[in-house]
Amino acid sequence: MNFNEYPIDSLMYITNRPEIVFTHGKGSWLYDNNGKRYLDFIQGWAVNCLGHCNDGMIEALNQQAKLLINPSPAFYNEPMAKLAGLLTQHSCFDKVFFANSGAEANEGAIKLARKWGRKFKDGAFEIITFDHSFHGRTLATMSASGKPGWDTIYAPQVPGFPKADLNDIASVEKLINAKTVAVMLEPIQGEGGVIPATREFMQQLRELTKQHNILLIVDEVQSGCGRAGTLFAYQLSGIEPDIMTLGKGIGGGVPLAALLSKAEIAVFEAGDQGGTYNGNPLMTAVGYSVISQLTAPGFLEGVRSRGEYLRTKLLELSEERGFKGERGEGLLRALLLGKDIGYQIVEKARDMQPDGVLLNAARPNLLRFMPALNVTTGEIDQMLAMLRSVLDSL
Ligand SMILES: *Cc1c(COP(=O)(O)O)cnc(C)c1O
Repeated sequence: MNFNEYPIDSLMYITNRPEIVFTHGKGSWLYDNNGKRYLDFIQGWAVNCLGHCNDGMIEALNQQAKLLINPSPAFYNEPMAKLAGLLTQHSCFDKVFFANSGAEANEGAIKLARKWGRKFKDGAFEIITFDHSFHGRTLATMSASGKPGWDTIYAPQVPGFPKADLNDIASVEKLINAKTVAVMLEPIQGEGGVIPATREFMQQLRELTKQHNILLIVDEVQSGCGRAGTLFAYQLSGIEPDIMTLGKGIGGGVPLAALLSKAEIAVFEAGDQGGTYNGNPLMTAVGYSVISQLTAPGFLEGVRSRGEYLRTKLLELSEERGFKGERGEGLLRALLLGKDIGYQIVEKARDMQPDGVLLNAARPNLLRFMPALNVTTGEIDQMLAMLRSVLDSL
């Protein structure tokens, strides 16, 4: 179909979108309404961890759709229990609550911390978060985020989220008072421009929060589920947080998210937390397929080696073009351009002929790479060749 034949005008405006409509995808490739194909290094914003239309996910979705789609969140179902069991087996956490989006999982983490504070810390409710962090688009998670401008768009904000500086333990310590209940951070800031918290900082945070008897919450919506080369990014720093949230990769493209905690932190009482679709079997069956594939023998080793391959190749490119290097973990990486040409590169790369390549500039001076975790080195080479030809044309 021609672009003009789609009833695009009926969609509420929220952002500028290119005049193409995606119709299907497989693995690392997406296809549009004109039959043009795109090598996809965005993958739904680090969501499709197994690429487009993964066979195992399709199978799980089909099987479950025939069995049971929704019994109600007030009852147990088999996929919800199986996925929770898989997650606790492969993490340091004991309890799981399923949600539908990263923001909703983070809202749950905020509620759980506040409830714990009410119960054990004399009503402490403040959660220290970080400049340039991103925790979602609900009012509370926007308030928790340190994204410039987000304090005013929908003012007034939800109170109780003082901001510290990432990798600066003194800036955190300064904010701790009797009202503090938790520190919440992304182990790797994603939207902020792929900025990893150092191993040392994570360990200092764990030490500091223990010392003050406050909770450590990791938002692994983007860094979790194999993205950083380990199943969860907190595992890179050898610490155990109290609470973790997952989203994006856990569903591999379907709306699924999770809130996990240590047993002693799981203090919700009947009626405190819920949601119509929490733990619905259709989504958790897909999540079970995703996490099973990520934890299959050899898979994460493969992610680490492909991440290392991408890292080496980005460094070569940086050297060759006089850029400022690269950073990241696993298959969440950024190329530091040193100048504000990111958006221009993204557009030209998408519009290339005959094939396009989908890239993201999380900030104007860098490119963020978040391919499928099963991307091949051949596809990485292809992406780099296409990127080089875009750079030549600037
Ligand atoms: C994307 C993201 C969120 C929000 O997830 P949604 O599913 O869009 O609500 C929260 N935290 C981090 C770190 C993210 O990258």
